[in-house]
Amino acid sequence: QVERGFYNYLQEPHLRYFQDLLGYEERVLTNLSDLEKYNVDWFQQVRGSSAVVLKPKTTEEVSKIIVYCNQYKLALCTQGGNTGVASGAVPVFDEIILSMELMNEIIEIDENSGTVVCQAGVILEELDNALAGKGLMVPLDLGSKGSCQIGGNVATNAGGMRVMRYGNMHGNTLGLEVVKANGEVLDCLTSVRKDNSGLHLKNLFIGSEGTLGIITKVALQCSTRPKSQHVTFLGLQTFDKVLKTSKKAKHELGEILSAMEVMDSHTIKWGKEHTNLVSPLDDYPFYLLIETAGSNVEHDSIKMNEFLESALKGHYVLNGVVTGEPSKIQSIWAIRENLPQGFKDYGWCALYDLSLPVTEYFNIVDETRDYLKNHVEDVFGFGHLGDGNLHLQVLARKYDKWLADDLETFLTKRILDMRGSMSAEHGLGFLKRKYLPIVNDHPSYTLMTDLKKLLDPNRILNPYKVFP
Ligand code: FAD
Repeated sequence: QVERGFYNYLQEPHLRYFQDLLGYEERVLTNLSDLEKYNVDWFQQVRGSSAVVLKPKTTEEVSKIIVYCNQYKLALCTQGGNTGVASGAVPVFDEIILSMELMNEIIEIDENSGTVVCQAGVILEELDNALAGKGLMVPLDLGSKGSCQIGGNVATNAGGMRVMRYGNMHGNTLGLEVVKANGEVLDCLTSVRKDNSGLHLKNLFIGSEGTLGIITKVALQCSTRPKSQHVTFLGLQTFDKVLKTSKKAKHELGEILSAMEVMDSHTIKWGKEHTNLVSPLDDYPFYLLIETAGSNVEHDSIKMNEFLESALKGHYVLNGVVTGEPSKIQSIWAIRENLPQGFKDYGWCALYDLSLPVTEYFNIVDETRDYLKNHVEDVFGFGHLGDGNLHLQVLARKYDKWLADDLETFLTKRILDMRGSMSAEHGLGFLKRKYLPIVNDHPSYTLMTDLKKLLDPNRILNPYKVFP
């Protein structure tokens, strides 16, 4: 249950101010049908009722909007590509939606230092395509790359498929420009790799989910685009074999290993029924997708084939395919990337994004399945094995509050006992905000709420999110 805060309601004079600032039609949306897609999140878990979407193009416009909202105590919800999993990007009540989609300029690509500076609303895939021509790439890959924005990636500290090789956004963000709740612009937009001259203020905003400031520009460290890519898809008998194969891959593929995703048989079955999943292998208890990225096709191909051969010979894996062909690589990745498509339309789908010691990875799936017995339709797990990040899915025909609360308590206790995390990469947003005081010790929680008070005293930035 959540109650609307003491914010003002949007009125005609407010609208007139925004229209004078941004123009009348395309940049101030008030038409109900235009508003629909901005009011509902990608996973269709939360629906807000905002009456206006604002689309600034410049930092100065963002600053003016925020100053005005602060003055009239109007709540704001910043929205990037609206692909977030914790429903942080949609209004809960009637917050004004600040869409970053027109702040989509790539400002500078520096080929010598391998850096890029862009506005926050640039779509991840578009930025990556622009870098491709220069032999560079964004060191981040998500299934949502065609819609999510670089500012949203920073605001959620996104992880994704290649964290084990390149790290997350905390590791790759060199600089930020941020508009504070009082309209002041923080220029931390340096592109240098090393800068220890004072506190690392930009880090405060990475993963802050629009609650501390609005990210308007981003400077990123890019990686060299690999010239060769290979993928192997493996069928395995037990989780123990998954762990042994993963260790073997780290040792034998070494510097070219770039991703390692795992799925159980329930996941593949679900994918076949609810997405257009086509698997090159069938009927194994576990599946591993391992990717290499390097600079020499011949060398990488030999390494990958030798790895597969010895994994088969040593009975680590039961079966496997390997490919270096771009279209085949894409269809193998599609097995993993399209899974979330199926969750939208299912009755009730609880998505847990857990960090835990890798040895416990599938134990928690089995324990959850046993705990819920036949109260749900299915329980399955998949995710970024290389990072110990499990996506645990619990599916039921319809929402049951008792079951949901009981499951939360069970999982939270198990994960905290292991000193894991209840939100590995998706953030807390609206749906998981209750965890903030539960999973953080009291002094850390108090420091977080003090920072929020300091940076946004009127709590106009993304209310009802992250901070319970
Ligand atoms: P939004 O959803 O629009 O916003 C997310 C949060 O950031 C909100 O709180 C919003 O207020 C805030 N925000 C957005 N832009 C700004 C800004 N400029 N300034 C301040 N705050 C801002 N995530 C992963 O980490 N790893 C994955 O592998 C992954 N796979 C996914 C696959 C699919 C199919 C989908 C749909 C989602 C996936 N996600 C994944 C989740 C999501 O794509 C990421 O969290 C992504 O970083 C969100 O970016 P966005 O632009 O869509 O942000």
